[in-house]
Order: sequence, then structure tokens, then C-alpha cells
Amino acid sequence: MYVCGITPYDATHLGHAATYLAFDIINRYLRLSGRSIAYIQNITDVDDPLLERANRDGQDWESLAQSQISLFRDDMVSLRILPPDHYMGAVETIPWVLQAISKLMDRNAVYEVEGDLYFDISTDPQFASYTTLTQEEQIAIFAERGGDPNRSGKRHPLDCLIWRGKREGEPEWPSPFGPGRPGWHIECTAIALEYLAAPISIQGGGSDLHFPHHSMCAAEGRVLTDKDFAKRFVHTGMIGLDGEKMSKSKGNLKFVSVMRNDSIDPMALRIALLSGHYRTDRSWSGELLERSQVRLAHWRTALASPYGGDSAALIREIITALSDDLNTPQAFRAIDRWADTRIAALKDSAITSDNVGEIGQVARFLDAALGIAL
Ligand code: ZN
Repeated sequence: MYVCGITPYDATHLGHAATYLAFDIINRYLRLSGRSIAYIQNITDVDDPLLERANRDGQDWESLAQSQISLFRDDMVSLRILPPDHYMGAVETIPWVLQAISKLMDRNAVYEVEGDLYFDISTDPQFASYTTLTQEEQIAIFAERGGDPNRSGKRHPLDCLIWRGKREGEPEWPSPFGPGRPGWHIECTAIALEYLAAPISIQGGGSDLHFPHHSMCAAEGRVLTDKDFAKRFVHTGMIGLDGEKMSKSKGNLKFVSVMRNDSIDPMALRIALLSGHYRTDRSWSGELLERSQVRLAHWRTALASPYGGDSAALIREIITALSDDLNTPQAFRAIDRWADTRIAALKDSAITSDNVGEIGQVARFLDAALGIAL
């Protein structure tokens, strides 16, 4: 499983957290079902947004990246997201990118525009076959998400940059094609193919990566390997705030680290973000957080109670729910019902229970399958 990572110029916001939580549930599910899994994630630790932010703030880009990566890792640990097996930065993997570009050159899929190298999308006859966007829409989205459709000298507006030649004041690495730095899409393609054989089982990320990022990776991967790049693409929904889109430009991003500093229990954040289905766009609100805090407290009370509830039935219900396209809302409703029964039993002295020993099993299962430590 290859999941596209962050560009470390800003802390982890709730949208990032929701995405990595969804893949954490997939990772946990696959491991619990006895499959072996290699989970790879990248960090785009050299790219335009990072360099722009460092410039704006008069900060060294490498120390900005390092500080944000460290904050991201702390956020992931606090949310109990299992780390990927390999977590690779673009700056660590430049030899792999150079290899991939050389191979694309051998296949006549690369051309130069004023010292920059572009991937020629026409070399993949199946380019963008996974998207229902029209070409006009593709071009508009490409421009919004880091692309340069109007650059003169390109063969096709959607051809993407794979090596950006040296610029004054920008970091650069030596290469057979002249000094420069890697483009974004080829970075993920190269890292994924270094660890995983095409077609990889899952390529994942937020739904904003569907186009162009994953379509570009798929096209580059197909030209490199003559195979499909991925068997499945998994995209997570966006998190809005009080019904509005959460975005940098609106300045309404909610950061996990800020909420942690406000002593909000990360388990309540985890429950709140997983209480909606991972593929749907959903909204964050103070009310959702409050409801999740109450829910967490309810589950903790139930677990501390010595009475009632069928542990084996609960575990079965959770597995059934997760097997249905990771239906975490349904799994949580099953835990609610189980908790209700136990709390009701506590109040009803007529009921006695013989399942005290199974409670450890429930606690361990909630931890293993859902990452929820009570
Ligand atoms: Zn990626």
C-alpha cells in the first residue's frame, strides 16, 4: 500500500488526520486478517509550497521541513496511527527519481523545455482512464494543483514536470540531465516502484489527489513497467469546517497539534474523524467534538463496568462493519449498543455477568482493529 504523504510546510490539519486515519484502519484490517502488508508513505520535502513558505517566513527550507515532519510524526503518534514500514523523503530518494527519468527517456516519454524535463502523457494510451473529468476540466484542475498547462514549448497542456532545472536561490541536486530538483508526481512513482512491484495493491490519498497526481503516477508507472501502476485507488473525503471548505486560503484550518495543546484527548479526535465514512466529504464542528468526547467517556465507563454485554458478538459486528468498505460509523454504533447494555446492567442489580474475563479481549480488539485505546 502506497499512501501519498504531506508536504511539510504546515502542521497536520484535520483533513490530513482523517486521511491517515482511514489508511490506518485499512492497514490494521489487513494485518488483523493475517495478510502481510508493506505500507509505504512519502514526504514531499522539497517542492514549491515548502520553498515559498520558507521564503515568505525568511526561514531555511530544510529546517522548516524538519520541524514540520517532527510535528506531523508527533500528531500521528498521538492519534495512534501505526507508522508506515517505509517513510521516505523526496530528498532521500533522488537517485531513484533519476533512474526513473532515465528509463522514461529510454522509452521516448521525456522532452525538454528550457532546461526542464517533461513527461509526455501521449506515451500512455490509457492516460486518465480512471477519471470521468473532461479534458477541459482536467486542464483547469491541473492548473489549480501545481500544474503549468499554459507554459509555451510543451507538447500537451497536461504534460507534467519531472525535473526542474536549476533556478537561482532554489535547492538543486546534480543529475545526468543537469542540476535541478524532482517534480512531484515522479517522486511518488519512483518511491512506490522501488519498494513495491507493479501493479501495487493500493495507492491512496485524499480525493484531491485523484487528478492530476494519481493519474500522472499511473501513466508514468505504466510507461515504466508496461503494467498498471495500481490495482486500486483509494481516496478519502475532505473535511470541512462548520459546513465550509477547510483550506489554507480561507485561513480556517484546524490543526491537530493546536487541539492537542488545548488538552483535547486525541482519542476523541480519532472517534470524531472516524464517525463519518472515510469516502464522504464531511464537516468538523465543535458539536461533533463534544459528541465524540461524550461517546469516549461512555465507552470508558462501559469498559470499567464488570457487567453484561456479549464481547464475541461485538467483535463479530465490528469485523462485519469494517469488511463493508470500512464502515466505521456502523462499527461505532455497535460499540454504543454494547456500552449501553453494560451500563444498564450496572444499574440493574438483578443482572449478573460471567463475562468479566472477556473485557480484556474487547479492549485489545478495539485497540488492534480501530486504534482506540480506552
Ligand atoms: Zn503521491
